Amino acid sequence: MTIDDAPRDALRGGPRELLRWVATGAAVSRADLSRLSGLSPSTVSQRVEALINQGLLEEAGAGRSRGGRRPRQLAVPTGGAVVGAIDLGAHHARVGALDLSGRVVQARTLPVRIEDGPEAVLGALLAEVTTLVGSAPAAGGSAVGALRGVGIGIPGPVQHSTGRIVSPSRMPGWNGFDVVAFCAGRVDVPVIVDNDANLMALGAHRTAHSELDHAVYIKAGTGIGSGVISSGRLHRGAQGSAGDISHCRVVADPAPPCTCGNAGCLEAVASGAALVTALREQGVPVSDLTGVIRLIDDGDRQATALARQAGRAVGEILAVVVNFFNPQVVAIGGRLADCEPLLASMRATLYERCLPLATQTLLIERVAAGQDVGITGAAHLVIDHVVAAA
Ligand SMILES: [Zn+2]
Repeated sequence: MTIDDAPRDALRGGPRELLRWVATGAAVSRADLSRLSGLSPSTVSQRVEALINQGLLEEAGAGRSRGGRRPRQLAVPTGGAVVGAIDLGAHHARVGALDLSGRVVQARTLPVRIEDGPEAVLGALLAEVTTLVGSAPAAGGSAVGALRGVGIGIPGPVQHSTGRIVSPSRMPGWNGFDVVAFCAGRVDVPVIVDNDANLMALGAHRTAHSELDHAVYIKAGTGIGSGVISSGRLHRGAQGSAGDISHCRVVADPAPPCTCGNAGCLEAVASGAALVTALREQGVPVSDLTGVIRLIDDGDRQATALARQAGRAVGEILAVVVNFFNPQVVAIGGRLADCEPLLASMRATLYERCLPLATQTLLIERVAAGQDVGITGAAHLVIDHVVAAA
């Protein structure tokens, strides 16, 4: 069992929580950690020593004395880019080097041709991430500097236990590809793979609202998916497909055909790719999602109507999710999150279709973490793994 799979209550004072308290500034000393966790000073000391030996915590000078010996201050080694992260999209990838608190040290966006296949695409991105980590400024005073792991987000379904990609919609040549095995031949550290919506959920939850236990994050870009945080941790389900709403059926007449072979799937109605297709069929010469968003921003009648229809479709599926799961927050991210007509009709549909008890205190908002939310989530996957292994 990894820490990620442990019930939240069992984590009170667990290594990850101790690290988080130090990383967020809630604790700067062993005494603070003892007070916050309710654990005895000797237990806290033992755990802190283990974390220091693993390079996950460091002692940074001396804190303020309340009489007697001044306590040594604890800190998460910052500035050292020791975690590599890749957030792969349909046309671009965000690649980053992050420190052990999940802070981005440096990152860049690269154009990607997903149709070039997994070996070419992942080979190039892994080389880039290794270069980024190697060229990042060294940690101030810390002995840690080497790569500890790489987290990778894939825009398609990933079987969690194996790291294999299973039947992705728009990734020709990637079906069944074993990402972990491929990467193991190229980097000598743990590689953790998940789908992009899960990474967005984890990144968004850890950077905002980590105090909330139940959250749903919708990623609406070229494709559409969601990630679920339940009892404070990422909920993947039995195989890793939890939260994948892309092929849920919505009311649409006519029901557009979907890449999965069915018709009327949420992805065929409400994804960025679906909006491009629908506009083209109406004779509007638009080449990509950027063009669609520009038309909506300009108040184009056809594009705006399609965005409203997409928002209703997302709202219909989300209403089922909210009634069933009762989250505290629903947040939407991805490139369509800034599309006001889509957001407004999604929100209206949610309020119309949900039980009052489910929406009474429900927060509905945009994911605020920006373009690095995916690599931040990827880094946290790695950090959790490293802490669990320690
Ligand atoms: Zn489908």
